[in-house]
Amino acid sequence: MIYLDYNATAPLRPEALDATVATLRSVGNASSMHHAGRDAAERVDLARRQLASLLNCSAGEIVFTSGATEANNLALRAACAGGGALVTTAVEHPAVLEVARAITDATPNALVVLPVDADGNVDLAKLDDALEDAGERGTALVSAMLANNETGVITDLSPVIKAAHAAGALVHTDATQYVGRLPIDLDELDVDLLSLSSHKFGGPQGVGALFVRRSTSLPFHPQMIGGGQERGWRAGTLNVAGIAGLGAAAEAACLKMHEEAARIAALRDTLEAGLLAHVPGCRINGIKASRMPGVTSVTFSGVPADAVLAAMPDVAASDGSACSSGAPSPSHVLLAMGRSREDADSTVRLSLGYATTPRDIERGIEAVAAAVAQVRSSLAADTE
Ligand code: PMP
Repeated sequence: MIYLDYNATAPLRPEALDATVATLRSVGNASSMHHAGRDAAERVDLARRQLASLLNCSAGEIVFTSGATEANNLALRAACAGGGALVTTAVEHPAVLEVARAITDATPNALVVLPVDADGNVDLAKLDDALEDAGERGTALVSAMLANNETGVITDLSPVIKAAHAAGALVHTDATQYVGRLPIDLDELDVDLLSLSSHKFGGPQGVGALFVRRSTSLPFHPQMIGGGQERGWRAGTLNVAGIAGLGAAAEAACLKMHEEAARIAALRDTLEAGLLAHVPGCRINGIKASRMPGVTSVTFSGVPADAVLAAMPDVAASDGSACSSGAPSPSHVLLAMGRSREDADSTVRLSLGYATTPRDIERGIEAVAAAVAQVRSSLAADTE
């Protein structure tokens, strides 16, 4: 199999596998006072420090969760608990967009969804308008993703943070597709809240974290109650083995991050050049924007993406985002970028990561080119 679906999930890093298995073999509830409990708590503390070092924040600013979905829910619900408008973008993951809609549902005009341009860049002028228009109610939160899961387009958060903070709003970023892939420094990037998920950077699935800046005046608003874990922010016995795996993956991702990002970007560029050269009528979405190194979103005009994927069973890739695969609606991200419904339905996402090799790319180009040609010829035969 040629695995080109890192944005859906990355293969488990060997270091993460070792840490997870070693912890599963041990015993102890991180809340227990005895020796076994302290051992579990130490494994959690180590992972907290490993993640804090990846993010350049302090370990006490991390709340472990079951993933980015939960972290996003926690962040948005806490920040908006006291009322105030919520501003977000049209290209967010459903784990932000649907939460945003749910929590502002009962209050007219409490939600502003910022449009993006044809390359997926957020319209900052509209952010200024939204912050001004919030009036008396004010804006509680601006939530903008750091990197898009479908296109890899990176949001330039600095102006967003500046404008939001000047208006008294908190800033949350869904950094799920960025963390562990490009360097991040939370001393510099002044967001109040940040969500991440371990399995996107080679840790196990079902574990993630919310960064909550210590100086942030965030109202205490846990969703899970019934235990004092994670300083009361997230009740329930900790997933110690998952957390240990996340920590080990964070540490491994830190090593040679710049070199790895450059290597992966070069492979992605080779992939795109190969597809543009060998597949007539293909177009790369967000190509003019600043993008993550390891992803490409390619539209094959007039060729349904699900048929392309079915025609290359040895390639693991995705039509649009994995989370919406199987759903009949077209990608809201591509529609927001002004693509037609037909183009959105003809778009394949190929995503690379730490274990991708030049051979994967070579074989990937051949497989995609052959699959698109095969689908095109069967569509042509059907219309004859
Ligand atoms: N946000 C983004 C940008 C994502 O790509 C994903 C995963 N597809 C999530 C949130 C949700 O992550 P998880 O399913 O691990 O909770």
